[in-house]
Amino acid sequence: MPGLAAALGLIALATLLIFRTPRAAVPPPKAEETPIPTHNPSPSPTPLRVGIVSGHWKYDGGAMCPDGTREVDINYQIAIEVVNLLKQEGYEVDLLAEFDPLLQGYEADALVSLHADSCIPGVSGFKAARAWNSFIPEEEDRLLACLYQEYERATGLQPHQWSITPDMHGYHVFGEVAPATPAVIIEMGFMADDAELLRHRQEIVAQGIVSGIECFLERSKTR
Ligand SMILES: [Zn+2]
Repeated sequence: MPGLAAALGLIALATLLIFRTPRAAVPPPKAEETPIPTHNPSPSPTPLRVGIVSGHWKYDGGAMCPDGTREVDINYQIAIEVVNLLKQEGYEVDLLAEFDPLLQGYEADALVSLHADSCIPGVSGFKAARAWNSFIPEEEDRLLACLYQEYERATGLQPHQWSITPDMHGYHVFGEVAPATPAVIIEMGFMADDAELLRHRQEIVAQGIVSGIECFLERSKTR
C-alpha cells in the first residue's frame, strides 16, 4: 500500500514540522502607561531672568556735567527703579556693575546696560545698540525695536541715531555674556538738554526701559 505509506510519511513530516516550528513569540504584556501627574495642572513657569547693568557703577563716574553731576549716579538711580519695577512684575533680576564678575558667561532672557550721554548742551535724544558681531542678531534687533518703540512712547524723547559710536557696538559686555543672551546698551538721554527727564522724572525713564523689555519678553513667550 504505497499510497498509505506515502500518506503516513507526509503526516510524520507534518508532525515533525509542527513540533519544529518555533513557538510564536508571546507578545509582551502591554506596558502600563505611566500617567502624568495631574494634581498640579498649571505649575508656575520658571520666571524669566533679566540683567540690568548700571553703567559705570563700581568702575568710574562716566560722563560729567560742569555742576558735578555724574553719569554713574543717574544711571544707578534709574537702574534701581528699573530693577524694582521688573521684580514687581515677577521677573528674576540681577543688578550688575559695569565690570561685574557675574557678566562672564551671564545667562538671561535679556540684558540691558543703562547709560546716559555726554553733558554737551544743544543735543537731545536717546539711542540703543547691539554688538556688530552678534550671535543672535534677529533676537537683539527685536529687543532694540521694542526699546526704541516703548522708550520713545514713555519719555517723548526722539531717537538720536547718528551719534551711535563704534564704542557702543563694541561694548565690552557684549563679549562677556553668554552668546545666547540678548544684550543691548541704551544711552537714555543727554545729561544737559535731557536733564529734566534724567534727573527729575526717573520713574518715567525707568518705565520706558521696563516696557521695552516686557515688549520683547512677551513676544518671546508666544513664539
Ligand atoms: Zn556711560
